[in-house]
Amino acid sequence: RSKDEGGGKHYTFEPSLHASAEERRQLEFALRSALEREELTLNFQPVVDANKENVLSFEALVRWNSAEHGFVSPGKFIPLAEDTRLIVPIGEWVLQEACIQAMTWPDDIRVAVNVSGEQLLDPNFSASVVNALAVSGLAPNRLEIEVTESIFVRDDSAARTTLEQCMALGCGVALDDFGTGYSSLGYLRKMRFSTIKVDRSFVQGAAVDNPESLAIIRAVVAMADSLDMTTTAEGVETEEELAMVRKLGCTKIQGFYYGRPMPAADARALFSNDRTPAQGAAA
Ligand code: C2E
Ligand code: MG
Ligand code: MG
Ligand code: MG
Repeated sequence: RSKDEGGGKHYTFEPSLHASAEERRQLEFALRSALEREELTLNFQPVVDANKENVLSFEALVRWNSAEHGFVSPGKFIPLAEDTRLIVPIGEWVLQEACIQAMTWPDDIRVAVNVSGEQLLDPNFSASVVNALAVSGLAPNRLEIEVTESIFVRDDSAARTTLEQCMALGCGVALDDFGTGYSSLGYLRKMRFSTIKVDRSFVQGAAVDNPESLAIIRAVVAMADSLDMTTTAEGVETEEELAMVRKLGCTKIQGFYYGRPMPAADARALFSNDRTPAQGAAA
């Protein structure tokens, strides 16, 4: 503040900038102890077969309920965790907890775990996957790792090597939020993804009046089919969107239409009767 005391115009005080930097510092401080204070939990969102409508898997989504800050969205704390490398221990916990929960489900139900670029560049990443599988007893083919296109921008070969180690273990690798990053088709030639997840920005409203979105979904599905990859439509909320992505040939559906991310106990309870989550049950 002192610099604009002399009337200099270049150093005007910005309360909003200052507040967000301070808030960030506070959040980081709290995030450092979130693991040991057991403030993190996982929610699970069902992924459903597009035609048979049974649950195929769940995506694990981390939640942080901070003593000081209350509920903080992953959109806010994941980038912070990435910048501070706290994502490495947090990600290890997520992997392990997701595998442990998956062991309480029928043994044909898989679990998907989001992994950041910072985690993949950590030399111990594949060891932490091996460890999570060993501690939980989960079969490797029941674990799918979700990565976004962004990981290939920075250090293409290091990330790929790590993912190939996971594939060699038997895990699947899904390409998340497809179409939103620096989409380069080059790595689709180099990496055998199990699944391409079509970002919800293409899915939502596509049914209404967006021929471009429809054309893009159609093209992604055709490409995935011929590369022997499945496609998941993300963010399906309405019956119209469901009908559309089904017609376009997406093989799997994820979105509020079938179920919101839910606590582990609720995910487990879906298997007490049948495998079709009641629509809006967890909403
Ligand atoms: P993502 O991996 O693409 O996860 C899907 C996000 O879309 C989730 O947000 C989910 O709640 C939301 N979603 C699902 N269906 C619908 C729908 O029908 N409509 C709308 N509007 N949204 C829907 P969430 O849980 O807030 O997570 C946001 C992002 O944070 C995730 O995007 C992922 O990139 C990241 N993230 C979450 N958990 C983890 C984690 O354990 N590790 C890492 N590295 N990243 C994570
Ligand atoms: Mg994901
Ligand atoms: Mg996604
Ligand atoms: Mg996303």
